[in-house]
Amino acid sequence: MTGDLVDVGPDVAVAGGGACGVMAALRAAQNPDLVVAVFEKSTREGCNAAISSGSLAAGGTRFQRAAGIDDSPLKHAEEILAASGDKEWRPVVEAVCAVAPAMVEWLADTGYPIEIGTDMPRAGMSVPRLHTDSGRQGGGRLMRHLRGLLGSYPNVAFVDEAPVVDLVVDAGAVSGVVVDQNGRRQRIGAGTVVLAVDGFAGNPALVKEHLSDLGNPYHGGVSTSTGDALDWVRRLGGRVRNMGAGLRSGLVVVDHGTRVSPALPFHGAVLVAARGRRFVDEQRYGYSALAQILRRQPGERAAMIFDATALAATRESEMMRQCLAAGAIREVATLDGLAAQLGLDVERVREAVRARPGRRQLRPPFQLAWVTHGLLATQGGVVIDTQGRVLDSADRPIPHLYAGGGTACGLAGPSSDGYLSGNGLLSAFGMGWIIGNALASRPTGRSAL
Ligand SMILES: Cc1cc2nc3c(=O)[nH]c(=O)nc-3n(C[C@H](O)[C@H](O)[C@H](O)COP(=O)(O)OP(=O)(O)OC[C@H]3O[C@@H](n4cnc5c(N)ncnc54)[C@H](O)[C@@H]3O)c2cc1C
Repeated sequence: MTGDLVDVGPDVAVAGGGACGVMAALRAAQNPDLVVAVFEKSTREGCNAAISSGSLAAGGTRFQRAAGIDDSPLKHAEEILAASGDKEWRPVVEAVCAVAPAMVEWLADTGYPIEIGTDMPRAGMSVPRLHTDSGRQGGGRLMRHLRGLLGSYPNVAFVDEAPVVDLVVDAGAVSGVVVDQNGRRQRIGAGTVVLAVDGFAGNPALVKEHLSDLGNPYHGGVSTSTGDALDWVRRLGGRVRNMGAGLRSGLVVVDHGTRVSPALPFHGAVLVAARGRRFVDEQRYGYSALAQILRRQPGERAAMIFDATALAATRESEMMRQCLAAGAIREVATLDGLAAQLGLDVERVREAVRARPGRRQLRPPFQLAWVTHGLLATQGGVVIDTQGRVLDSADRPIPHLYAGGGTACGLAGPSSDGYLSGNGLLSAFGMGWIIGNALASRPTGRSAL
């Protein structure tokens, strides 16, 4: 590798300034004796956390208790594992669920306006567990808040437009990062490296290699997730798992790329495919599992039909606001109008929107959005332990190397169907929190890290 080795680098070099990287840096920076540098590929291109809905899953928070909701980290972990079936990953799932309540409460204590989404029911969740900002502006607001906090630490440098392109390795131990700045490669020494560069949904070749069963999905994530860390870790003897799993969505609006709210089915919304066929119990599947079901429908799409009551219950969310602003939802006054839009006879449409037992009946005027499937982020990644240390093929930690968020194996298990709402930010912020806290509490100095 060419370039100058800068001996006096940071104690901690974080690759990636998204959810996991910023949280790891914030927590590590609590120790004023540590110098932390975050190398970010491009905030202009963005991170998935900033375009996310910003829904934070945590079981057992003070916000839930205040709303009379009985929940706990263990219950949260059990529900993630019931959906994923990934018993081998239980320790990591339990580790991030255990820290989630403290993390969400800390976020509120830093001035971020948090509430429990009692109006955000999700498949696979027995109680309301998603926390969100009051005002429902989503992940953009969250990341602005966290990066703002980072700026208040004198011992942190956030270096933008500076992709990490490789690791510096000495005698099998990681000792820094290679960073590309304005076309010039620089080797920067660091006591510890945290890999927080997300997954590979923005890398068509890797998606084709590992997720070929998805066909040609709409990519609803950022362009920066190109799986950069996978080769670095493999070269050090690390391994990957669950590479075929993704965070998918079966609620992507055709020709718009916005997503309708996953809460809509809980307010009576129905999905109707060609010839008026109802093909799924809309409340049963999470949006990730729904994606594959939609992919099997004619034209890989279906009409989501709801009404004014369902719209009123969901419109105060960043997802629905984006849909409405984009003109992705059409209002149709009558059943006849709906039949014309769907190209079906009116009796077939009347039958299609008839409420199933126990569900509410939709009333005109109707709302219509054509939805298809998309890939938002990948869930497979490098194998870590409960402390975020990257493991080699013999399950030994690779010295000085940590990973979290989409870079590491996620919580969905081997299939996208196992993804539960909130899993993505939980593993990113949760592991960032764990890694950063551990680094902050260690004796300082290169060798100690
Ligand atoms: C549309 C959408 C909605 C979502 N909604 C939710 C939700 O509501 N709740 C939830 O839990 N999850 C949600 N997710 C998933 C969640 O956003 C991700 O799981 C999470 O952001 C992953 O965190 P991360 O830190 O690994 O990656 P990111 O947040 O994507 O950050 C990675 C950062 O690394 C940078 N980077 C990449 N390569 C390099 C490199 N070589 N060198 C330096 N920097 C690099 C990127 O530019 C980026 O800034 C959503 C995802 C999408 C796409």
